[in-house]
Amino acid sequence: MMALAGYPLGIRCMFLDRSATSPAAQVAPILTGDLEDAAQLAALAACSDVVTFDWENISGAALAPLEKLTRVRPPRAALEVSQDRLAEKTLFSKLRIPTTAHAAIDSKEQLVRAAARLGLPGILKTRRLGYDGKGQFLLRSSSELDAAWAASGGTGLIYEKFQDFSREISIVGARSTAGQTVFYPLSSNTHGGGILHYSIAPFLNGKLERSARIYLKRVMNALDYIGVLTIEFFMVKGRLIANEMAPRVHNSGHWTIEGCVTSQFENHLRAICGLPLGSTRALGHTAMVNFLGKMPDRAELLAIDGLAFHDYGKDPRPGRKLGHCTILKKRTTERNSALVDALKLIEWC
Ligand code: AMP
Repeated sequence: MMALAGYPLGIRCMFLDRSATSPAAQVAPILTGDLEDAAQLAALAACSDVVTFDWENISGAALAPLEKLTRVRPPRAALEVSQDRLAEKTLFSKLRIPTTAHAAIDSKEQLVRAAARLGLPGILKTRRLGYDGKGQFLLRSSSELDAAWAASGGTGLIYEKFQDFSREISIVGARSTAGQTVFYPLSSNTHGGGILHYSIAPFLNGKLERSARIYLKRVMNALDYIGVLTIEFFMVKGRLIANEMAPRVHNSGHWTIEGCVTSQFENHLRAICGLPLGSTRALGHTAMVNFLGKMPDRAELLAIDGLAFHDYGKDPRPGRKLGHCTILKKRTTERNSALVDALKLIEWC
């Protein structure tokens, strides 16, 4: 999606991916290898004006040598903060961004104390390498403590109070090399088993939108950020509680491809290439639905008026994000009824 956004701007992307048949390889030249393969990363940097990433589990140590060869954007510090749930929450707190009550856990005694202090239910999560609900263990009562502890692997964990949220919301924005910032309208996100099922945007709530923009801008400025940055929030009693940040284009921003004047992918490229940022104005009311584990019937979905179809060309695997569709309509009522129609044709597995 990044390569496709770059084409009209004359920006040519080259990728590093593990597989020669990856989605990126289907639209752009590719180097294959492990994402932390030093020689391949150096080769990529040697032929690039700027290197970026759309996955945050690449170590800062692997990227550091590239900074001598070319520009690496967003800054490595942002990547490193987002890789550690504890560092992320510490940054949120430092910037006066409300976040979930939490405790670092490295022993079973600490877990027992944290569950008593913060209360149950709670979620035990790995601090690193968890995404899309991976590495998370729900504790409904103290009787589940032993099982969660055994399943978690034991160290480098965080215990979070379970948030009784009414909604999950995200904000996507971009900051340029000149310090210009733009913010997309809020997106309301529905997850299942920790993975995004569908988003509705714009989620219209002036008060929350103002707060979300202020919070995102604080993080961007604190990290001297360049590129697209996302924060995911829980909405609890009408307030935003930050869950996590992602230093990259985000699944909950895929709707911007059809739904906004400038997509998140284009604005990410504009930002990292030192270009002015484009308008984030919404063109209507959208719904974005992920295809998980199984591709739906393309012809059936395309029969829905105003629907755009995205097939990433991946091999199906349970829970794997294989593509998505976006519905764009003038009115919320039209968007909602087209979403109901689309959901009847999509099976998540
Ligand atoms: P994460 O990997 O932190 O984004 O978590 C994936 C999903 O799990 C979130 O989008 C929520 O639906 C759920 N979740 C994570 N943390 C909490 C929490 N502290 N309270 C309630 N639900 C949570």
